[in-house]
Amino acid sequence: MMVPLKNLTVAEMEAFIAGLGKERYRARQIMRWLYVQKATSFDEMTDLAKELRAELARTACISSVEPSTVERSADGTRKYLFTLADGNQIESVLIPDDDRLTLCISTQVGCAMGCRFCLTGAGGLARDLTAGEILDQIVVIARDLGVENRISNCVLMGMGEPLANYERVQQAVGLMTSAFGLGLSRRRITLSTVGLIPQMKRLFAEKVPCRLAVSLNAATQEVRSSLMPISAKYPLDAVLATCRAFPLPPRERITFEYVLIQGVNDSDADARRLGQILRGIRCKVNLIPLNEVPGIAFRRPPEKTVLRFQKILMDAGYLTIIRESRGRDISAACGQLRGLVRGS
Ligand code: SAH
Ligand code: SF4
Repeated sequence: MMVPLKNLTVAEMEAFIAGLGKERYRARQIMRWLYVQKATSFDEMTDLAKELRAELARTACISSVEPSTVERSADGTRKYLFTLADGNQIESVLIPDDDRLTLCISTQVGCAMGCRFCLTGAGGLARDLTAGEILDQIVVIARDLGVENRISNCVLMGMGEPLANYERVQQAVGLMTSAFGLGLSRRRITLSTVGLIPQMKRLFAEKVPCRLAVSLNAATQEVRSSLMPISAKYPLDAVLATCRAFPLPPRERITFEYVLIQGVNDSDADARRLGQILRGIRCKVNLIPLNEVPGIAFRRPPEKTVLRFQKILMDAGYLTIIRESRGRDISAACGQLRGLVRGS
């Protein structure tokens, strides 16, 4: 069995290197090659002895995802399709903004949460991604971009529910922020969850270096559970109580995401109620007008409804941003990612 090096933590890499009978510091040297230099072969690791490189080539492998296609949207968004070693496919989306280059990555092949408005959810879960597969989306795209275009932000909002794949996501986020890893700062990584309470608590307790976004999508438990089956297990009130107890660093806020669906959760009363239930939580709200997806009957509300909803929340004192849907023409927008599950 070849060891996929990008699945290893720093400690595991040290143990692996020790197992080869080499000096411990070689582990960090190799990690720098993997994540800073973004090496694709052991031959590139020129400060390692030839003999060690040959040993690594015999026992380990570097990459776990292969870029298949890149689609470019009229608005500059790019969607990358990756094929995994087992034939499954996942998608990552690169979103350029004025001074930011945000990469939206996947954490699972598909998703088991079954939210009724989401295409990823419609296909169910094929499997979790490994830490290497999560990280490689960033490494491969960063290499493709070259030195002049640096990825500035990373959001775990692609395919999958990140907290349903907790350990691998934790490990990948750790390496994103590590000095031998990708060197992104904690404030530039955002993890979006459907509201898995035990894992949210673990995230705080274990100080996983990322910011938190929570998909609310409704202002009442009744509507929320009709849209998101997980709300039966982790009700709206309990999710909000968990957020209220979240020890936020100074000046940081939780982001609440709210997909606006015509006639379902977009009334003035919904907006006012949302303002009430968020009281006391340092937060901002991202409104995402629904991206319509084939086979799903929900509709996007007209723009004036979206603006009115925003105004009510702003008047109630919440920073409220309408998330422009980028990349809709190439099906790269929220809820439109599907990839291809092997065998389906
Ligand atoms: N599973 C995580 C992260 C991936 S989904 C989560 O649900 O938070 C990222 C965001 O896309 C979520 O806020 C989700 O509510 C939103 N989304 C899903 N389907 C959508 C659609 N069809 N249109 C707009 N946003 C959608
Ligand atoms: Fe999964 Fe998020 Fe889609 Fe819900 S919205 S099905 S949690 S990817």
